Amino acid sequence: MRMKERESMKPLKKSIVIDLKDGDYLLINPYRGLGDVVDKETLKELSSQDVEISNGTMQALARRGHLVEDGEEDDLIQALRRRANKMHTESKKIKGHGIVITYDCNLRCPYCYERHLFAKEQKRRATMSRKTVDMLFETIQVIDSEDNDGGASENREENPMTLIGGEPLQKENFSIVEYILKKGAELGYPFSIVTNGADLSHFAPLLSQYDIKKIQITIDGVKEVHDKRRYRKGNRGSFDDIVKGIDEAHKNGLPVVIRINADSDNIDRVPEFAEFYMDKGWYPDIPAHVSNVTASECLMYSPLITAEQFTKKTIDLFLKDERMKVFRHSLLTHNDLLRHLVRDEEFSLKFWYCGAQVSMLMYDPLGDIYPCFEAVGHDSQKIGEYIPELKFNETMNQWQSRTVFTIPECLECNLAFICGGGCAYGAIRTMGSLNKPYCDRMKFIIEHEFPYVYHLMKTEEGGFKKAESQGGIQKPSHP
Ligand code: SF4
Ligand code: SF4
Repeated sequence: MRMKERESMKPLKKSIVIDLKDGDYLLINPYRGLGDVVDKETLKELSSQDVEISNGTMQALARRGHLVEDGEEDDLIQALRRRANKMHTESKKIKGHGIVITYDCNLRCPYCYERHLFAKEQKRRATMSRKTVDMLFETIQVIDSEDNDGGASENREENPMTLIGGEPLQKENFSIVEYILKKGAELGYPFSIVTNGADLSHFAPLLSQYDIKKIQITIDGVKEVHDKRRYRKGNRGSFDDIVKGIDEAHKNGLPVVIRINADSDNIDRVPEFAEFYMDKGWYPDIPAHVSNVTASECLMYSPLITAEQFTKKTIDLFLKDERMKVFRHSLLTHNDLLRHLVRDEEFSLKFWYCGAQVSMLMYDPLGDIYPCFEAVGHDSQKIGEYIPELKFNETMNQWQSRTVFTIPECLECNLAFICGGGCAYGAIRTMGSLNKPYCDRMKFIIEHEFPYVYHLMKTEEGGFKKAESQGGIQKPSHP
C-alpha cells in the first residue's frame, strides 16, 4: 500500500538508536520490532522535530513507521495502554504454580540468594509433608477452577508446574517428590525443575516417567572452579555428582539445560568449561548459557560484578576465545527483540517483566504463598497463604498490578515496551518499591550486545539467522 505523501513528519519519540561502531546506526522502531541501518547524515536529519520527506530514504523510513504524523504516537501509546490492561487481566487467569518443596539445600554456595534462611534454622529445615501436599493440591484445584471456569486444563500443557527449593531434588525427599509428581500429573500438569543437580542421578529414572519440560542445572565451571563454589555441607565438591546426574538425565531423554553462574571469581575460566562441555558430547543436545550472579538484599559477596561489567566481559570473551562459541546464544536469552531481529522469532511488546507481576504463585512448605522465586521466604513479600485456608493479601494486588504504565520512569523510557520495567523484586531490593524501574542489563544490552551480534551476523554466515520480512534488519531501500 502506498503511503499518503506528506511534506514533513515527526520521528518516533521512543525510537531506539544504536551506534554500530562502524559509522552506521541501527534505528529501531520499538512498536513494530523492526530495525533499519542508517548513516550519520540520515540520523542527523531525523534529529529535527519535523523531518522533510524529501528523498527516498525518508520515504522508506516513514513506511517502516520510524516517522509518524503529529499526535499519532501519543494515540498509539494510549491504545497500547488499553491493550496492556486487557492482556494483563486475561493473563492473570492462568496461574503459574511453583512448589517450594523444601527450604533446605544439600549445597552451601557462598552466593545463594536464600542465604538469609540459614539464620532461621527452623524455616530452613521446613520440607513438605504428604498432608501439606494434599492441602496444596486442593488449593491448586480451587484456584484453577475459580480463575478459569473449570477450563484451566486446556492451558496446562504450556504452563508447567515448577519444582524449586532450597533444593527440590534431594535424596532424602525422594518419596515426597514422587508424590508431588503423581498428584500434578493427575491434574494434567507437566513440570519444570530448577535444581543444583547434585542428587539428580537418583531421580532421573523417576523423572523420565513424567512429562518434564525442562530441568535447569547449574555448573560454575570445570571441576576445580565449580567445587570451590558449589559444595556440600563439609566442603565436599559437587561437580562429579552433577556430571553423573546430567549424563543419567541425558540417557533417560530428559530435557536438561545448563546455567553457568559467573562473577569475577570464575568468569575468565568459562572457556575451559566450554571445552569440557564439548568433550562430554553435551553440545548441542544440552543447551548451556552464562548468567551473572545477582545480588540479593542479604548477600555480602564480594566477587559480584555489575550488569554492565558482565555484559562487557562476556562479549570480550566471545571475541577473543573461539571456545566460547558454544555459549553464544547466552546473548539472546534475555532479549526478545534481538532474537526477533536476528532469528525472526515472534516479537511481542512487553508490558510487564515476568509472570510474578501477573499470576505466579510460589507455595512454600509452611503454607505461605509468595509471588516469585527470589521473594520466597521474605515475610514482607508474602502474598497469601494456603494453610490453614486459602487467602491473599494486599501485597498480591501490588505485585500483580505492576506494568510499565504504573512506573513513571518507564513511561518516559524508549526501552519501555522491550524491557517491561525490569525485575519487580530487583526494584524492591534496590529502589525500595515495586513502582520503580529496575534497569539492570537492558541499557547495556542495547549499547553493547546489539552491535556485537549485528557484526557477527554480517561476518559469519550461519552464525545467526537473518530475518527477512517484517522484523529483520534492513538498509532502507528507495521506493
Ligand atoms: S520478579 Fe525478578 S526475581 Fe522474581 S521471578 Fe520475576 S524476574 Fe525473577
Ligand atoms: S526498567 Fe529502566 S530500562 Fe526498563 S523500561 Fe524502565 S526505565 Fe527503561
